[in-house]
Amino acid sequence: MIIIMLGAPASGKGTQSVVVAQKLGVPHISTGDIFRWNIANNTPIGTEAKKYIDKGMLVPDELTIQILKDRIEMEDCKDGFVLDGFPRTINQQESLDSMLAECKKSIDMAINLAVTDNEVIRRISGRRMCKCGKAYHIVTYPPKTAGICDLCNGELYTRKDDTVEVANTRLEAYKLQSEPIIAVYREKGILVDIDGHKPQDEVSEDVLNEIEKYSSKQGVV
Ligand code: ADP
Ligand code: ZN
Repeated sequence: MIIIMLGAPASGKGTQSVVVAQKLGVPHISTGDIFRWNIANNTPIGTEAKKYIDKGMLVPDELTIQILKDRIEMEDCKDGFVLDGFPRTINQQESLDSMLAECKKSIDMAINLAVTDNEVIRRISGRRMCKCGKAYHIVTYPPKTAGICDLCNGELYTRKDDTVEVANTRLEAYKLQSEPIIAVYREKGILVDIDGHKPQDEVSEDVLNEIEKYSSKQGVV
């Protein structure tokens, strides 16, 4: 199955993508994670992407589409994948459609995690990350020990683009460049809206229920 996870920054896309990918046994592909890996490892892609990411702007399509194409052509993607953070522009959405059409594949489902602007800013300004991928919120979802990950004992850090100022730019980029994609997938009849304000576990339940419904209709897993 090919699933696209849509939603504003900090809507829970990353968290829910991991849950879905585990459930389906397919890779979780996050363009944000790929860029951050490149930045941490000082690659040329990382140097280029960092100029935009630190300001809260989108990385140019040409580079983003190329890294995505390279990733989904890998062997482990042949039975499907969950896309988290791609497509983020109409141009990316159209490129993805043609990449998939070339290998006679198509998107099964696009899941839209809806949250309000206020909630986006609230979540981003309190977000703390662990290198294992787990995310916390200092007020509403703190770790058991302050600053330490419950899962791996790693030291928590704040993403450089998780300041209120950069968060506002990211939200603006989302509204202008990414939100129009929702209408495209709705038109194609593959969009499912999920209330992203509920507690994480309930959102996961809602998402997995929708996938279950779709699978039993299609007879695919
Ligand atoms: P979030 O959804 O919380 O903003 P991501 O990890 O998905 O976090 O993305 C972080 C940043 O990486 C974005 O603000 C953007 O600069 C860059 N990025 C990630 N995916 C894309 C994409 N598909 N196109 C352009 N830029 C991207
Ligand atoms: Zn951890």
